[in-house]
Amino acid sequence: MSQAVHANYINAEWVQGPSQRSNINPSDTRDVVGLFTQADEQQVDQAIQAAHTAAPAWALSNPQQRADALDKIGTEILARKDELGELLSREEGKTRPEGIGEFARAGAIFKFFAQEALRLRGDKLASVRPGLEIEVTREPIGVVGLITPWNFPAAIPAWKIAPALAYGNAVVFKPAELVPASAWALSEIISRAGLPPGVFNLVMGPGSVVGQAFLNDARVDGISFTGSAGTGARIAQAAVQRGAKFQLEMGGKNPCVVLDDADLDTAVNCVVQSAFYSTGQRCTAASRIIVQKDIYAEFLARLSAATQSLRVGHALAADTQIGPVVDESQLAQDLRYIAIAKAEGARHICGGEQVKGDTPGHFLRPALFADCDNRMQHCREEIFGPVASVIPADNYEHALSLANDTPFGLSSGICTRSLKHATHFKRHAQAGMVMVNVPTAGVDYHVPFGGRKASSMGSREQGSYAAEFFTTVKTSYLQA
Ligand code: NAD
Repeated sequence: MSQAVHANYINAEWVQGPSQRSNINPSDTRDVVGLFTQADEQQVDQAIQAAHTAAPAWALSNPQQRADALDKIGTEILARKDELGELLSREEGKTRPEGIGEFARAGAIFKFFAQEALRLRGDKLASVRPGLEIEVTREPIGVVGLITPWNFPAAIPAWKIAPALAYGNAVVFKPAELVPASAWALSEIISRAGLPPGVFNLVMGPGSVVGQAFLNDARVDGISFTGSAGTGARIAQAAVQRGAKFQLEMGGKNPCVVLDDADLDTAVNCVVQSAFYSTGQRCTAASRIIVQKDIYAEFLARLSAATQSLRVGHALAADTQIGPVVDESQLAQDLRYIAIAKAEGARHICGGEQVKGDTPGHFLRPALFADCDNRMQHCREEIFGPVASVIPADNYEHALSLANDTPFGLSSGICTRSLKHATHFKRHAQAGMVMVNVPTAGVDYHVPFGGRKASSMGSREQGSYAAEFFTTVKTSYLQA
């Protein structure tokens, strides 16, 4: 039976591109989730032109219109979160509760930014010159190109699209090639929210064509990107060259410190959740587990037992805790780093082997290594899979210095019952987000998200801080 090809959405019309791509279920590679059209340069050009034409009127639109549209989108997402969450799990491989939770988060984000559209404020200041008045106001930046990765197919698009629209920007959205189904479903909901034509456009296609076109086109005023450091560097270079605004969220090599006064049940739970849930495919996943030596042996024994008890399998099976790796090339990368860890002399505790399931999928047992050295390659580079490396630390100060000794700076965690160490760690961890006695992954939707060093560039995403990127500041002087 032939399947319909899901189309791109340009200037309020559904349009086919010149080619198509199959979306494959990583839990069962026989299952084609859907067919999705792929844009060429000409079609991206049409989408950018539609946004460029729509942007001036949308910038001046009534905030109530924007709030109503975003609220409507959020309401429908929340009402359909079970069905949409299942679709997400089917195409990306995270478990059903994780998929549903992600769409619930996307719905909450739209509702939050519906209200933010009404809260955009400025300042009025006295001038140092007599008779003058000064106003500081925020305006939309214009057309924004939004480029997203495969690991959060609904939440990351939501936390870029919602603030972009709330603050009056026109959007051209390019989802990751691997996970177009969630993006398409989200776009279909947005298409019925009452936005004027051209304000929101979906362009599916390869990064080298669609994403690259955003970088080269002077009509795209800003680019918000989440993905790998390599692609981020290209975007920064291109954006600086032509003076476009940009915001990059990239990788992580997040530490979770376990001190000898930690509640060990809490600590084991934090590490298992941070390192292995969502198959370790989270930028905020903990992959360096830094453990104080007095509890090292006991903690490792408990962590090993918890890791081995994890049930790996089909994302939609009721008892699965760890779904499949997203595709063959990510699986190959995970296996390559597992081999590197062994060759570097890390002590292999458990896992790291492929699992045969009832269906042909990319199943990998979570891998645990001990006695690792923070200078080892597998402790420095992002693996983006279910692989955790335990590193011994002499004391708190040593643990903190190991935690900070990384090129990245996204999320940094500590498990301790010491108020003194928790307080010190919050102040001195070199990361955008610090987690005390909670997993390094898993964040609220109404507060800023982002990192430091090689993890991020530009202003923060989410919460009211999203206005930093999606608006530009104007200072007006008035002589009455
Ligand atoms: P990726 O860089 O390969 O792709 C990300 C997006 O960029 C995709 O949509 C892709 O098509 C596009 N792209 C590729 N080449 C391009 C080009 N030349 N010009 C413009 N766009 C281009 O990343 P990925 O493999 O999809 O995602 C995994 C990475 O994302 C990991 O490194 C992970 O840590 C990171 N990530 C970061 C965060 C965060 O907020 N810090 C969140 C999730 C994922």
